[in-house]
Amino acid sequence: MNVEVRPAPAAPQALLPTPEIARVGIVGAGQMGNGIAHVCALAGLPVVLADVKPEALEQALATIARNMDRQISRNTITEADKADALARIGTVTDYAGFAEADMVIEAATEKEDVKRAIFKALTPHLKKSCMLASNTSSISITRLGASTDRPEKFIGMHFMNPVPVMKLVEVIRGIATDEPTFQATQALAQKLHKTTAVSEDFPAFIVNRILVPMINEAVYALYEGVGSIAAIDMAMRLGANHPMGPLELADFIGLDTCLSIMQVLYEGLSDSKYRPCPLLVKYVEAGWLGRKTGRGFYDYTQTPPRPTR
Ligand code: NAD
Repeated sequence: MNVEVRPAPAAPQALLPTPEIARVGIVGAGQMGNGIAHVCALAGLPVVLADVKPEALEQALATIARNMDRQISRNTITEADKADALARIGTVTDYAGFAEADMVIEAATEKEDVKRAIFKALTPHLKKSCMLASNTSSISITRLGASTDRPEKFIGMHFMNPVPVMKLVEVIRGIATDEPTFQATQALAQKLHKTTAVSEDFPAFIVNRILVPMINEAVYALYEGVGSIAAIDMAMRLGANHPMGPLELADFIGLDTCLSIMQVLYEGLSDSKYRPCPLLVKYVEAGWLGRKTGRGFYDYTQTPPRPTR
């Protein structure tokens, strides 16, 4: 029998050229925003970094310089690379400086209302072709995209912490994200020497869907008295071969971020197995957010950091 096999017609979008990303804007100069600025600038891209707090911008530049010094001491970059990269980073507290950006990556606090307010204030300053990415750990890309004037140019670009060290970027398409935006995001990740994993737009995507419930379970183990902080972390480091214990890792990520992710999983999937541990809530209410506030499951004013219970 003769069966004619015809190639499937190419999707019209696939024929569209991939937009080039030559200039990047970043909103939020916290631990993620400064890391994203660091890798973009080292890859040769001019960067504009914005934050509501001028002191966060100063701190970000100091952190980037310090982290680059570490790379120099490991011979992965030179003094000249550092100087060139730092010269490519501009800082602003308003969005007028984003007019030339081809892609803006939002890396502000993990709160949906904060991110929506940022997009509303930001988009009038962008050129029409500018793409928008969110580094959110858990919030729906489709929903965030729909709140902007350009859902087809909106995408999830989820970097891992610390950005200069971690190889992975999760790329998440919203329902409206077009193919050129997806291809441009993949190309940007490649330029930053990252490997991408494509995730569907489900709460917390792949990494945090698996990782953060494990952290929450470790907090439950502490809450129920199964083990002390030191015992839980030791058990997972040596028993499961994890490079960091789950409570140490929670402090590193930020307990507020961990709690927000659990709340998104709990609400988004309506499953009681994602219930945030009350002890995690209590730490966040106390303002003990981990390394960034000097205290979480460990007290970082002590050397070495001492477990707080
Ligand atoms: P962070 O608290 O260190 O930094 C957030 C920054 O956003 C702060 O400097 C804050 O001043 C700024 N900000 C708040 N509101 C703003 C506004 N309206 N305009 C401009 N800037 C504003 O938080 P982070 O850990 O860097 O997290 C940022 C984002 O990255 C979150 O969406 C988080 O879920 C995501 N993320 C975090 C990690 C992690 O391990 N911490 C990993 C991957 C992704």
